[in-house]
Amino acid sequence: MALIVQKFGGTSVGTVERIKAVAERVKKTVAENNSVVVVVSAMGKTTDGLVKLAQEISATPCRREMDMLLATGEQVTIALLSLALQEIDQPAISLTGAQVGIVTEAEHSRARILEIKTDRLNSHLNEGKVVVVAGFQGISSLDNLEITTLGRGGSDTSAVALAVALGASKCEIYTDVPGILTTDPRLVEDAQLMSEITSDEMLELASLGAKVLHPRAVEIARNYGMPLVVLSSWSDAQGTTVVSPTPKPRSLVGLEITKAVDAVEFDLDQAKIALLRVPDKPGVAASLFGEIARQNVDVDLIIQSIHEGNSNDIAFTVVKGMLNQAESVAEAIAPVLRSEKASAPEEAEVVIEKKVAKVAIAGAGMIGRPGIAAKMFQTLANVGVNLEMISTSEVKVSCVIAETDCQKAIAALCEAFEIDCSPVQNAHTGVNEGPPVRGVALDKNQARFAIKNIPDQPGMAAKIFTQLAAQNISIDMIIQSQRCRLVKGVATRDIAFTVAQGDAGAARQVLEDLASVIGFEEILENRAISKVSIVGSGMIGQPGVAARLFAALSEEKINIQMIATSEIKISCVVAEDEGIRALQAVHKAFNLAGSEKIVVPA
Ligand code: ASP
Ligand code: MG
Repeated sequence: MALIVQKFGGTSVGTVERIKAVAERVKKTVAENNSVVVVVSAMGKTTDGLVKLAQEISATPCRREMDMLLATGEQVTIALLSLALQEIDQPAISLTGAQVGIVTEAEHSRARILEIKTDRLNSHLNEGKVVVVAGFQGISSLDNLEITTLGRGGSDTSAVALAVALGASKCEIYTDVPGILTTDPRLVEDAQLMSEITSDEMLELASLGAKVLHPRAVEIARNYGMPLVVLSSWSDAQGTTVVSPTPKPRSLVGLEITKAVDAVEFDLDQAKIALLRVPDKPGVAASLFGEIARQNVDVDLIIQSIHEGNSNDIAFTVVKGMLNQAESVAEAIAPVLRSEKASAPEEAEVVIEKKVAKVAIAGAGMIGRPGIAAKMFQTLANVGVNLEMISTSEVKVSCVIAETDCQKAIAALCEAFEIDCSPVQNAHTGVNEGPPVRGVALDKNQARFAIKNIPDQPGMAAKIFTQLAAQNISIDMIIQSQRCRLVKGVATRDIAFTVAQGDAGAARQVLEDLASVIGFEEILENRAISKVSIVGSGMIGQPGVAARLFAALSEEKINIQMIATSEIKISCVVAEDEGIRALQAVHKAFNLAGSEKIVVPA
């Protein structure tokens, strides 16, 4: 007999009829010789309604009372579902988080799960009952029983954590969409259902998938290797399976890691090539990387940052053995780009550097948590390591540094982020299963800042991002590219980053305050941007994926303003009004379109 945890979201239990339908489905699972634990959300938009009630009384309601209030939503559902099961002769019992013993941090409204007691659950299961557990809630300790909640959307997290604690065979998340889609079906008509996605890909697609699946739930599934299936409550279709590699054994105490970073990675086999002062117009990245792909050279990091006048810098890394080939492609292309503006005083130029290393911090815990990148930069600055390039994705910050600095950089990062295990070398070599691109996402809610002429010394990025974090501003992409410029005899670089538009005003204020302290000159701001990203673990070690992305944008005459990458993600910043067209073109270029029309609720 297998144990399955099934979670039903708000819409799936939105009415009495739906609760009855859920009861039938659960009973059917039991009839197939399974033990079942069910986790439910509050009915429909109940939680939103409760939040509104509180706001009518207080503009800044205390977080403890908010938890007390919001936890009631789920308590209604568990009782009703339990009754519905009993009504169809399926023995069942409902339990709150406290009754189960779901112990969390004492952080109201955003608690992470520390431990789940399983005795009571197991004894009810042994009596042949379905146990219906309230999602989203826990208690701060077994002694003082303070009710906590996990943060909005947290029932997914409850379900996966319960599955892990009970050693279930899988966790099923029932929702109102058929599974995880290749992109947002409201923007791309022929978005298609994915049958499978890896947990790492899912985390990089957080901006696309977070509404369907809470990133913290994905993080737990990944850490404990729990199979996770996302499927529709309204059909018997297969849905999407989120697969995780077999993990190292891990304690069930401190279940939701409270650390933001769970790995320090490095790669010494990297060389850097930069093309400076290339024209800022559509098609440049496409022709450069198209040619590199034709030579079958795989590129790792790609970084393109803000332009000065009418030119861009594009920098990328390759394995050292490929440097010569990549360099000759870049050298051959530079004059072509140059001839466009024969009279220009500044001309495209190729710069190479053989002795570089890449160090990175990775961890799902950094999503939405300000200050992690800043801490990395500060740590490296403290040991005198200068950052040559920076590129970030949802769950990773990568820096290119001098090869000779690598050892001390790793040691310092492991200490700062309390990574006791040995750092991972070339973490991703050889893991290119699956399609090169699994899904594409568009983020229209960002603003871009570029800070020009920052002194090129250790500690500058750290200062800037520490100040931003102190204001609780979450940074999305950070890009520092190649160009070094002498200003009054001091070498300087530019750093660009994006934040949520809502934080743009605050970010500008922080930068203006810093300008005189650090001594940079200019802050450029652009709110009219979109970020288009492709994600897929199959792109590792496969030449030509970036080239295809850039070519798709080039064919649409869409200019790429910035590029940042991780091993399994490439993001481009484009003009806001070109975002949807870019998304559609990229979705098509990677043959992600499906024939089946996916209907999603508004
Ligand atoms: N009811 C909570 C919310 O609406 C938790 C959940 O449904 O996942 O955020
Ligand atoms: Mg949800």
